[in-house]
Amino acid sequence: MLTKAELNKFKRILEEKRVELERVVSNRDAITIEKSADALDEVQHAAERELAIRNLDRDSRLLRNVRLALRRIGEGSFGTCLHCEEEISPKRLNAVPQTPYCIRCQEAADRHEFEANETMEDLLLNAA
Ligand SMILES: [Zn+2]
Repeated sequence: MLTKAELNKFKRILEEKRVELERVVSNRDAITIEKSADALDEVQHAAERELAIRNLDRDSRLLRNVRLALRRIGEGSFGTCLHCEEEISPKRLNAVPQTPYCIRCQEAADRHEFEANETMEDLLLNAA
């Protein structure tokens, strides 16, 4: 079980993430279409735009998980896996506090053994 102090720590971390992600997600300037006469430039812009869209998509899902995790803190269910209802290890929570799943369920979700809405960003965060 998580102590009150630990919960407060995660809450603070998640609140910071939420503010940061809300700022990033609301800033869609990177996606505005830039017209260029140069064909090579066009290709370059298209690639940059695609990357920006992918990042925005990832950040939007991450923000969703952060908001859900904050709600679970409020409800007192934070730190419990949404799928198997076992406790999520403190090590995992420290690495990815917004995760809804324990490592076993996350791996199962990554193998598509059940429907999960969080996969890529978790892998990216674990890799970082
Ligand atoms: Zn689980």
